[in-house]
Amino acid sequence: MSNLRIAIQKSGRLFEDSVQLLKECGIDLRNVKDRLRTESDNFPLEVFFLRDDDIPQYVEDGVADIGIVGENVVFEKNRQVEITEKLGFGKCRLSIAVPRSQEYDSIKCLEGKRIATSYPHMVTSFLAKNNVTAEIHEISGSVEIAPGIGLADVVADLVSSGSTLFMNGLKEVETILNSQAVLIKNKQLQPFSISLLDKLLFRIQAVKKAKRNKYILLNAPNDNLEKIISLLPGMKSPTVLPLAESGWSSIHSVLSEDQFWECIENLKAAGAQGILVVPIEKMVI
Ligand code: ATP
Ligand code: ZN
Repeated sequence: MSNLRIAIQKSGRLFEDSVQLLKECGIDLRNVKDRLRTESDNFPLEVFFLRDDDIPQYVEDGVADIGIVGENVVFEKNRQVEITEKLGFGKCRLSIAVPRSQEYDSIKCLEGKRIATSYPHMVTSFLAKNNVTAEIHEISGSVEIAPGIGLADVVADLVSSGSTLFMNGLKEVETILNSQAVLIKNKQLQPFSISLLDKLLFRIQAVKKAKRNKYILLNAPNDNLEKIISLLPGMKSPTVLPLAESGWSSIHSVLSEDQFWECIENLKAAGAQGILVVPIEKMVI
């Protein structure tokens, strides 16, 4: 029996979260530090550790069946791979930034400028779409220092908090792409690999769903039970158990992160007490 082969970043910003995701999916990996490849003992998975830039090509060529990489790299490399799942980590954006002292009111301000970037393809198509002509200087690292040393007028680089840009006297003026880590797959997977990928995706979705939801327990006066139950969205209907103290019940349910604060306030206002909120590890509906 063969394994499903996954390529992940060897070291860097996506490494920890990629390994952690596999772990949360119940996949144990032997010795992940400073290795080129490893296997799991409890899931038919083989892991290749690579530079993120190479992952789309390995997946296109079928050396790996799937990979975890930033959308920014997927779109820049433009390889024949399919995005199967957004993973919710490695969030950043590819943005254009100009020196803070420079006036900027529209994209036309980029006309004729020298733009330093490691993302020449994406920047070129962004400029073309906006009918702007500029000179692109491809550099592979430390793009943010280019204007300071006179190498370029403007940069197009990855930003998360913006503090690197700020420290280099730059301001963000356009967003080319909002990016996060994604799972990509080869377009001609064998049926055997597809069935393993489906198993993995099922686990990934359960982990992601669990992160978006919380388990909530609370005590409710029976007089207000109906009202309190109506405030709980829940997966189906909440569990209601009698408390030892007469006239009170314990209610258990599930709440999604985005409904969370508003719902808690309403529950308290309706007389709920002893509200406990706990994380959920996996969630399968
Ligand atoms: P490698 O050695 O694998 O080529 P790298 O230096 O190209 O690594 P990292 O800096 O580790 O790459 O970033 C990997 C990915 O993390 C990026 O492609 C991007 O998707 C994501 N990322 C998230 N936040 C940021 C950020 N602030 N700056 C750069 N990348 C970010
Ligand atoms: Zn890289």
